[in-house]
Amino acid sequence: MSAMVRPLVNRPVGFPRGGLKLMPLGGVLTIDNVCKKLEASNPSVCSHGWKSILHGRDLLIGNFGKALGNGCTTRIWKDSWISLDQQFKRYGPIPEAALDLTVSDLLTTDMNWNKNRNEELLPNLSTQIQCLRPGHPETEDIFIWQPLPSSVYSARSGYCAAVSQKQTSCSTQTFDWIRDVWKQECSPQMKVFLWSIIQKALPLGENLQSKGVRSEAVCIKCKEQETAIHTFFICPFAREVWDKVPLKNVVHIATGDNIKEVIAAFRTACCLPPTGISRTILPWIVWSLWTARNLHIFENKVLSAEEVATNGLSLAREWINAQGTVQRVREEIPRSIKSKTPQANPLLVSTCRSDAAWDKSSKRAGLAWSITGGTLRIDRQGSLTENHVSSPIVAEALALRSGLITAVELEIPRIRIFSDNSTLIRAINFDMQTKEIFGIIRDIHRISSAFIEISFHHLSLDLIKDVDQIAKRTLRGPNV
Ligand SMILES: [Zn+2]
Repeated sequence: MSAMVRPLVNRPVGFPRGGLKLMPLGGVLTIDNVCKKLEASNPSVCSHGWKSILHGRDLLIGNFGKALGNGCTTRIWKDSWISLDQQFKRYGPIPEAALDLTVSDLLTTDMNWNKNRNEELLPNLSTQIQCLRPGHPETEDIFIWQPLPSSVYSARSGYCAAVSQKQTSCSTQTFDWIRDVWKQECSPQMKVFLWSIIQKALPLGENLQSKGVRSEAVCIKCKEQETAIHTFFICPFAREVWDKVPLKNVVHIATGDNIKEVIAAFRTACCLPPTGISRTILPWIVWSLWTARNLHIFENKVLSAEEVATNGLSLAREWINAQGTVQRVREEIPRSIKSKTPQANPLLVSTCRSDAAWDKSSKRAGLAWSITGGTLRIDRQGSLTENHVSSPIVAEALALRSGLITAVELEIPRIRIFSDNSTLIRAINFDMQTKEIFGIIRDIHRISSAFIEISFHHLSLDLIKDVDQIAKRTLRGPNV
C-alpha cells in the first residue's frame, strides 16, 4: 500500500448519523480505508467542513482504481480494475449470486483467468480481462491513482482531477433540452422520440392513466407500474437488454430518478469498440425497447433481449454510416447559397402552414398542417384530433407544434412556419408569456433548435383555407 492521504485530525461538525465509520482520531487513513469505510451518502444538511471531506472522498473514489495482485480484495462490480488509467466499472444488472464476488473468483488456483467463468459473468469484457496479468497468490491488490502513469497520488494531479471532475459533473448533471435532445447525434425521429418520452406524450400506462384513459397501467413484462423509467431502464427485461449493450461507463439509475436526469447521465455513456458506434446509443436502444414493447402488446410477438439490443445497435450503426453521405449533400447546398446571399434562397426553404378547428362543447380540436417545398420538394399533409383542448389558441398552438415535429421527422433543414393566429405568432416571436400556451411555446422553441433556419409568420385565413378544411374535417371525424 503505497498511496496515503493526510490524517484527518478534527472530527467534523455536523457528522452524519450512521452509515459511516471514521478511523480513530489522529490515526493515519490509508487509501484502502478511505475507499472502504467512507461510503457515506451525502446528507442534505451538513457543515461546510464535512462537505469538503466528502468532496475529497468522492474525488479519491472517482480516480482510484485497483491493480491486481491476487484479486482477493478487488470487488468485481464495485471497483475499477479492468483499466489502469481510467474509471471502468461495469453497467448492467448483476446476477444476485455474484453480487459479492471478488476478482479472485474469476481466477483459477494457478492464478490464470478462468475463461468460462469470465465469459459467463462478463461476456463483453472477457477479451480485455485476458490481457490483465494477475499477481502472485501472496501479492495483495493495491489502489492506484489512475490519472498519473506513476499511479502515485500528487497534489497537483489531485487538483487537475478535481477541476476535470467538476467540469464533468456540470456537464452530466443538468439536463439541457438543446444538448440532450435536439443536438443529440441521432436521427430527427429519435430526437422527437426522446422529446415524447420527456413530455410524457408516449402512450405508456402511467401517462394514459394521468390523462384519465382507463387502461392497463402495468408493464407487459413484469406487471410493475409502466412508467418511462421502468420501461426503458429499470424493468428486468430492459436491464437485460442494456446488459447486452457494451457500454464503456457505468450509468447509475434508480427507480425514483427523473427521466431528464437519466438522459443527462447517459451523456458520457458511449459504446465500446468494435461496435462501430461512436455517438449516443441511448435513443436507439430506448426506441428498440419501445417497438419491442408494442410488438408484444399489439401483435403478441416477443423479442429476446438479445434481439432488442441488436436491433438498437444496428439502427444506430446504419444511421451513423449513412451520415457520411447525407452530411456531404447537406454541406454542399448551404455553401453555394451562402456565397450568393446571406439568407437561403426562398425556393430552398420549406413552408409549413398549420390550422386548427375547435369545438367548445366537447373541448375537442382538429389539428392540421401542410408542409411543402424546399430542397427536399416535400408535399405532406398531416392531421389529428386532440381531446381536452381548453381554447382555440391552445388548438392553434398544438397544430403548429405538430407541424413542426413532422418537419423535424422529415429532416427539413430550413423552414417557414405560418399560422392565421396572430396572437400565437406574436407569442412565439416575442416570447410573450401567454399562460394558456406557455408550455407549448416552450416546446416550439426547443424543437426549433433542430433547424438550420426557421421563422414564424402570420398568414391570412384565405391563404390557409385548404389546411383549415382539413382541420374541420378531422374534427368532425369519420364517425360523426
Ligand atoms: Zn417491467
